[in-house]
Order: sequence, then C-alpha cells, then structure tokens
Amino acid sequence: MLLFGIAAGLLIQYYSEKMLKDDLVRLSDVIKDEAQRENADLSNLVSFENSGSKAFRISFIDSQGNIVADSFKTEEFENHLDRPEVQSALSGNPEFVKRYSETLGKDLMYYAVAFTFAGTQEAYVLRVAIESSAVSEGTLSAIPLLLVITAVLAFALIFTNHKYNNASVQPLLELKSQLHTINTGGFQKLTVDKSNRDLLPIINELNEIAENINALNKVRSEFFANASHELNTPLTYISGYAELMEEGLLTDKDKISECGAKIREQSMRMENLISDMLKLSSLENTPSDIAMEEVKIKELLYSITDTLKLAAAERKLTVNVYCYAEVIISNEKLLKDILTNLIQNAIKYNKENGRIDITVRKNKKRVEINVADTGIGIADGDSLRIFERFYRVDKGRSRQSGGTGLGLAIVKHSVQRLGGTVKLESRIGEGSNFTVTLPEQKTI
Ligand code: ADP
Repeated sequence: MLLFGIAAGLLIQYYSEKMLKDDLVRLSDVIKDEAQRENADLSNLVSFENSGSKAFRISFIDSQGNIVADSFKTEEFENHLDRPEVQSALSGNPEFVKRYSETLGKDLMYYAVAFTFAGTQEAYVLRVAIESSAVSEGTLSAIPLLLVITAVLAFALIFTNHKYNNASVQPLLELKSQLHTINTGGFQKLTVDKSNRDLLPIINELNEIAENINALNKVRSEFFANASHELNTPLTYISGYAELMEEGLLTDKDKISECGAKIREQSMRMENLISDMLKLSSLENTPSDIAMEEVKIKELLYSITDTLKLAAAERKLTVNVYCYAEVIISNEKLLKDILTNLIQNAIKYNKENGRIDITVRKNKKRVEINVADTGIGIADGDSLRIFERFYRVDKGRSRQSGGTGLGLAIVKHSVQRLGGTVKLESRIGEGSNFTVTLPEQKTI
C-alpha cells in the first residue's frame, strides 16, 4: 500500500509538471505568433487576460537583455541577458529552467523562445514563467484522494484475505477433526466437499493410508486370535493328559507311555507353531535387504528329501528330484524354508502310492523351482487363500499331519524377500503344482 502511495504520488508529480510544461510551450507559441505580427504591441500582449495568484509571468527581452515589456510591473529591471532560459532561447535551443526569481521572490519555471520583432527587425526573446510550486500543490491536492483510494484498497485486501484464509483453513480444520477420530480408533472414510477439490489428492492418499492401517490392524488382531486358539488346543490336550497321570488314573504301563507320547506330540505341535510364528515375524521385521550367497542347491535339496524320506515312505510315495543346477545365488535359510514347506505339503496332501516331482532349473535370468504332486489338489476358490496365515482347506487333515497353517505364508513371504513369485496350478483330485520363480542370478 505504501509503495502504491509513493508510486502514485510520483506519477501525479510527473504528470503535473508535464502539464505545466505543455502549458508554457502552448502559451509561448500563441504569444510568439502575435508578437511576430507587424505593429505588434508587446506591452499589450504581456497582460492579455492573465491575472490571479497563478498567473503566468510573460516578458519580452531584447537582444541586449533589457526587459521591453513584462506582465509583472516593477520600476527597475536588471539586465536579463545572463539568465539561463534567455541564453538557451538565443542559442536556438529552448529549455525549461526552474529557479528562484529575484524579481518576484518565488520559485518559477521558465521557458523562453527567440523571435524577430517586426518593429525593430531585431532578435527578441519571449519568456513565459509560472510558479513551480503549482506542481507540488497539484500533488498535494491529490493526497486526500490517494489516501481514500489506499484505505479502500487496504480494506478490500484485508477483507478478501480474511475470507480466503477462512475458506482455506476451514476444510483443514474439518480434516483435522476427522483424522483425530481415525487416530483414536474410529475408522471412517475422510471426506471433503466439492468446493475443495485441491485437497482431493491428499484426501485420497490419506484414505488409502487409513484403509491400509485398518486392514493391517484387522490382520494383526485376526492373527493373534488364531495364534491363541492354535496354542490353546495342544495346551488343553497336554493339561488333560497330565491330569490323568497326576490323579493316578493310569495304572497300565502302556497307557502311561501312550499318554507321555501324546504329551510329547502336542508339545512338538506347539514347538512347530512357535517356530513358524517366529519365522514369519522375523520375515516381516528384518530389514529388506537380505544377504545373498552361493547356495549348493542340489546338496540342499537332497538333504531335505532325505529328512522327509521316512514320511514319504510311510505313504508309499515316489519322490523324483530333477535338479539341473549345482549352485545358485540366493539365501540358504529362506530357500530351505521354501523347499521344506512345499515338499512337506506335497507329502501331507498326497494320496497313497502317489508321486512327487521336484525340478530345479536355472538360466542366466532366473531360477525356477517346481514342486508337483499327485495329491488331493486345491479348489480354485482356495488357491489364493491358502497363502494366508492359518488358512487350511481341511483343518482336520492339516492338524492330524502336524501342520501349523503357516507353511505357505512362510513360503510366500520368503519368496517375496528374494524378489520372486510363487504360482499354483492345481486340479482337485489330480494334484497340485507349485512354481517358485526367483529373479536373475546376480553374482556376489
Ligand atoms: P498347513 O500347515 O496346514 O499345511 P500350509 O500353509 O502349508 O499349512 O497350507 C495351507 C493349506 O493349503 C493346507 O492346510 C492345505 O489345505 C492346503 N495345501 C497346501 N499344500 C497343498 C498341496 N500340495 N495339495 C493340496 N492342498 C495343499
């Protein structure tokens, strides 16, 4: 506003001065024309309709510097030849001169032009002048108007600013209260009215975050409920058998050893469950970059099938291993979990006299591990869900075979950790085929 005031003041001053100069030039042109006529009466010309406090001073000066006629009548005039405006007029280059007039005792703006006076055929100078305070007075007179304009503008600005601020802060406050509700546990979708479209991308992003957190919370609480239930079942068995033994109800030696075996079996189940839960938790919590190393895949594969040999033999299964790679770049611990879980499942969910084919292929770009069985198969509707924690198609069968319901969740997370994918092809009653593809073999 201040800058606007100063700029406006300077502009008004500039234009007032320009107008004054134009007036001086126009007046000098008119009077010069008259003064150049034959029989021109110079003393008459200087006093033409020119009076009042802002009257022009008009003078005629001869080439010697004597004032021949002047609108300001005094007895004595000193020689005016040395006056800068007279000099500039005589040199044919008229200029505006602002200076103090000794004669009038005021600041004046002068403009002078030379012409030939018909009466004497000599060079005369016509000089016109006006009080230069007229310029500053012009500016001063504009100040009240300027102040009014400035004040109106300032008010308008403050008003619109206030309104704009209110309009832009209001939806943010509204958003804050909605976020507070979410933060204190009440999930809701964030909304914003149509007039605040600018906020829409932020709202969408926040909604996505809130939904993810909500989904995560749901998964977490489901996981805890499932885990508690899974741990509770073997505990109930264990405490039941222990009670039988404690109360001396089992006298038969065989019964006691049977009971001991049951307790050991249930303890094993708990152990497996806790071990799988810890594996999953570490898969989720360890930093994303895992150590890559040279893994002797063939050796690893045979050592796994060796440990599972007995379980396979019990069900009269044929296990074929086709390993076309000796060494791959991967992480042995994760790879071992992936292979063990897939092969264990292929045994557990197979049919008697069934077959398991394990194939490992490697090229420069990827490693493909394939575990195919001739088992019970998985229905289409279950094929995605079986990778969820604790999801089982047939709960009884899984539990009976010592399954924790976490095996494929561990497979999925481990494969993801290695940057790969796991795919399932299955036909109910015919068998399942799990394919794990791990990305390119970077050298280490
Ligand atoms: P579990 O400990 O129950 O085996 P998993 O996570 O390893 O848990 O598997 C989840 C479920 O997927 C199993 O309960 C089973 O119903 C099904 N499943 C897994 N592998 C196979 C397979 N090879 N053939 C048929 N069903 C399978």
